[in-house]
Amino acid sequence: LNSLAVRREEAEIVIVGGGPAGSTAAARLAGLGHDVLLVDKDAFPREKPCGDGIMHPGLAVAERMGLGNLVESSFEIESTRMVIGHRRQITTPHVKGPGRPLPRCIVRKEFDAALLSAAQERGTRFIRARVEALGKGNDQRLLAVAGEERLEVQANLIIAADGATSRLRRVTGGQAAKPIAYAIRQYFKCERPLDPILQFDLPLEVDGRVLAGYGWLFPIDEHTANVGVGIYREARGSGPSLRKVLDIYVKELETKAARRFGDLEAIGEPVGSPVGIRSQLEVADSPGLVFLGDAAGTTHPMTGEGISFAMCGGESLAATVHERSKRKGRPQVATGADEEVWRSFPQLGVDISLLVRASTLEVNKAPSAIESAGSVAGPFLTTVEQCAHESAYKTGIEGTPAWAALDSYSPLLSASLERANDLLLDRFSDRTPFVTEVIHASIRSHLGPMYAAAVLATATGVTVPDTAFEAAVAVESVGVLPEMLTMLVDRARSKRLRVNNAMAVLTGDFAATRALLAAAKLGPAAVTALARVGQSGCQGGMRDTAARFAADRTPESWFEAAKETTGAGMVLATQFGTMVRGENSAAAERLRQFSLELGVAVRLAEEIVDLTVGDGVRPGREGAALSRGIYPLPVLYAVETEPSLPRLLAHHMAEQDGAAEIIDVVRQSGALERAAAECAGRVDAARSLAEAQTGDDGEALFTLAAVPADYVTSRVSADALEAC
Ligand SMILES: Cc1cc2nc3c(=O)[nH]c(=O)nc-3n(C[C@H](O)[C@H](O)[C@H](O)COP(=O)(O)OP(=O)(O)OC[C@H]3O[C@@H](n4cnc5c(N)ncnc54)[C@H](O)[C@@H]3O)c2cc1C
Repeated sequence: LNSLAVRREEAEIVIVGGGPAGSTAAARLAGLGHDVLLVDKDAFPREKPCGDGIMHPGLAVAERMGLGNLVESSFEIESTRMVIGHRRQITTPHVKGPGRPLPRCIVRKEFDAALLSAAQERGTRFIRARVEALGKGNDQRLLAVAGEERLEVQANLIIAADGATSRLRRVTGGQAAKPIAYAIRQYFKCERPLDPILQFDLPLEVDGRVLAGYGWLFPIDEHTANVGVGIYREARGSGPSLRKVLDIYVKELETKAARRFGDLEAIGEPVGSPVGIRSQLEVADSPGLVFLGDAAGTTHPMTGEGISFAMCGGESLAATVHERSKRKGRPQVATGADEEVWRSFPQLGVDISLLVRASTLEVNKAPSAIESAGSVAGPFLTTVEQCAHESAYKTGIEGTPAWAALDSYSPLLSASLERANDLLLDRFSDRTPFVTEVIHASIRSHLGPMYAAAVLATATGVTVPDTAFEAAVAVESVGVLPEMLTMLVDRARSKRLRVNNAMAVLTGDFAATRALLAAAKLGPAAVTALARVGQSGCQGGMRDTAARFAADRTPESWFEAAKETTGAGMVLATQFGTMVRGENSAAAERLRQFSLELGVAVRLAEEIVDLTVGDGVRPGREGAALSRGIYPLPVLYAVETEPSLPRLLAHHMAEQDGAAEIIDVVRQSGALERAAAECAGRVDAARSLAEAQTGDDGEALFTLAAVPADYVTSRVSADALEAC
């Protein structure tokens, strides 16, 4: 480096890497008026080893960057097909929704060039140079080689978006954790027309040995496919070469799936690289440096999908940097910006090595092990399957009904709820696969963090004391316990069900520990109160579990469980809110009554919506809660008047189908209307009790209490209720 002529550049923000992460952040920051310099070792367009499959969050970001035409002209994907042992198939349709386009396949060479152009159009400067090092100590210069010159860039902030093998991570001390997954792809001309389907094949088998990973065939257009394989591997060089695994996979497609694809004729050479999955993210530390995209390890640890995470991360990091620069005058120090990325991606740095080893062992045993793996999953594993992908995209709570209610009362309260959510995400970041994601999904379902909102509404004042945030974390965490109990399966015979139970118990323990630690910050009285609510929640959870698939469960038993679970949780929330205010309110009994009514209304609202319009995350999943067998109150009401219902429920339990028919019967019976009226009645009662509160909290709680009834009315269309 020292022998080269020096070229000096200055920028407010320098971004290394013009992939989806770097270009998105650059476009956003330059669009907001920042002086951005982007450095990449390659000239664009350039090749990038990738499957070219882009999911809806990434497409939405691309649209916002003005790439609508490119997206529109690409191949639209209708479903995903998982093929097991070239025989069994599971096809899952992708569901289109407002703001949720179907996935697309866009060749990365074109996609990345378009992203970079969008960044340049907004004012980003681009220099082709290979970054080698950073200045030492407080010298924050970026040192690179640009052709025959040595490039030195002085910037206030460096964003390292230099991919899975990040040079900047390595030069700042992050050598310990090497990538653990590798993938390769090649384009092929397909003789037969391709369906708009993302095909995954597993297991991959080489010389009689099963590898942990999968093969894919993604359609780029009617006759062009991106075919590739990705595998987990402890160390580079161990096991068969990627090229060999790909060749074997392609041959298998040609022989065993000949009817579907016909002849496959290679276009160009295969290209491969490490995938940005890491087990354990080491801290790579340097002032004014923040990591993004694959360099930050945001690739999904199970699927290897990383484009959407890189782009969403780019947008959210840019927003954070901009926000801080407004406050501080310039984006000098990135302290805390890494945390922002962590919070957005619960799966970040998850240690999947154990899971990979366990599944490899399982898969290596015999094909039957894989075949049976698809059958009975158990509620915890089913939840994992549902949310592992979706919840990773969204961890914010802005816009949830709980947030909106607080915001309509005071923006200070909604901002505090966001802060409480951040604290929750920090406390729950864990290295255990799926624990964090399932907890997040449970807290963020439907109404949003209602317990945390109730703590803050009760503790409301001119300022929100720090202890209120600990209180919010404690109640939300202990609230996870009953749900984990309802995920347990009695007399688990298969290994998969035993794993299901172990995960649910561990997750419950994990949440309980977090709850106790947070409550301890409020003092011994809070710990005692929390322990009581934990116990009550367990009792309610067990009451629910004992009545699993019981069509003859009485509504009284349902109400008991609701009081013991969400009711007791809400009581604790307002009790903690009062403690935070330093009061031992004389109106404690009234507040307790208020909380019980609200807590029961919350559970009721979520059940009504689950039954009618789905889980709010994936359209078309209405009635999904029936599979868990904890029948919602409207179903129990309908059983009282509809003699055909127990038979339908028994059929659904055995065959896992017929949910639509059950919902129809429930609708016709008027049970939904009855449950909605019950919910509204509880909300009215809670609001009257809130009105009688004389302190500051009365009005805030009055506003919050409307949430369950408003939610039911807004989500369950008037038509559906009229149909009853
Ligand atoms: C074979 C394969 C298939 C995949 N398939 C899919 C898929 O179908 N869907 C999906 O969502 N994800 C897929 N992924 C993951 C996806 O490719 C990444 O998650 C995504 O590219 C991450 O974007 P990024 O901007 O963080 O990094 P990258 O896209 O890797 O961009 C990093 C940029 O940094 C530049 N750079 C690197 N080092 C330096 C340096 N020293 N100096 C200057 N510039 C440098 C590189 O030239 C590059 O342009 C796949 C990965 C692989 C390997």
